[in-house]
Amino acid sequence: MSADPAFDAIHDAIVVGGSYAGLSAALQLARARRRVLVIDAGQRRNRFARTSHGFLGQDGRDPGAIVADARAQLLAYPTVTWLEGAAIAGRALGDADGFAIALAAGAEARGRRVVLAVGVVDDSLPDIPGVVERWGTHIFHCPYCHGYELGGGAIGVLASSPLAVHSAQMLPDWGPTTLFTRGLFEPDADQLRLLDRRGVTIERAAVTAIEGAADVRMADGRVIALAGLFVVSHTRIASPLAAQLGCELEDGLLGAFVKTDAMRETTVRGVFACGDMAVMAGSIALAVGDGVRAGVAAHQSLGR
Ligand code: FAD
Ligand code: MG
Repeated sequence: MSADPAFDAIHDAIVVGGSYAGLSAALQLARARRRVLVIDAGQRRNRFARTSHGFLGQDGRDPGAIVADARAQLLAYPTVTWLEGAAIAGRALGDADGFAIALAAGAEARGRRVVLAVGVVDDSLPDIPGVVERWGTHIFHCPYCHGYELGGGAIGVLASSPLAVHSAQMLPDWGPTTLFTRGLFEPDADQLRLLDRRGVTIERAAVTAIEGAADVRMADGRVIALAGLFVVSHTRIASPLAAQLGCELEDGLLGAFVKTDAMRETTVRGVFACGDMAVMAGSIALAVGDGVRAGVAAHQSLGR
């Protein structure tokens, strides 16, 4: 036997994903004096942003510092083991035996319950030069997170689909708004009326690049200077573990997410899911709250 506590013990729960949701779930289990293994690959969804907003008591902080504090507080509990790395496969061992989670390194960890908190990946940003580099600093998905800091200046929506119309209708509360349809679609008559009532400008030409802070270069040569841009980002669950374990997924407007009950148990008994991977549209506060539910439910399920 190795001397590595990650692999020798049968953990009460394995939490995959050690960010807001996973840390929150693990904290509940640790406080119930249960043995918890947290496996984390360290790729938070918001790692591109320097500040985070809208999370009560932490408004404006570095999102990495929030996680670092939470992790230090969690690791003070003696029953927690932390493993840095990616879980690559999961399987059920049979009713009484729980689950095995395989790590990139090759070894398998065993747990009676699994809490998935792997988050989502924004991998469908508009394919326009300058977008990826500005993701999280001048280009965002959520005005509630980053709209206020644009100071009421001119803002835009870079459309990838007609869903951008909804975003454009909402955005004028944060600044004068331009909808860049990029020639991908034409809003219908009702939408045009609503956009007009909200004072939204529509630009239909192709966008060739984003320059400067958030200046939009159009195919016709014009450059439209903005304080910031929003995209309706389609997401993908960050790991195939949920699917491998047999968890049912639901179709969301923005991408699939894992189906759970009110206490965040998935359709596979003993497997819980929380955070961005288990909701239609997430945030730090929702991930933290969801993590509490999943952690408490996983703990209580150990007695059934
Ligand atoms: P994540 O924080 O994404 O964490 C998932 C963790 O699981 C990561 O550490 C990842 O590496 C790990 N993981 C994934 N797969 C595996 C695997 N196979 N094995 C091991 N570990 C794995 N929300 C706000 O409330 N306020 C904001 O200001 C804000 N700003 C944002 C800015 C940007 C640019 C983006 C993209 C998002 C922002 N969000 C903001 C949303 C916020 O990032 C998410 O809602 C939040 O991170 C969800 O937390 P989570 O724990 O579910 O997932
Ligand atoms: Mg997490």
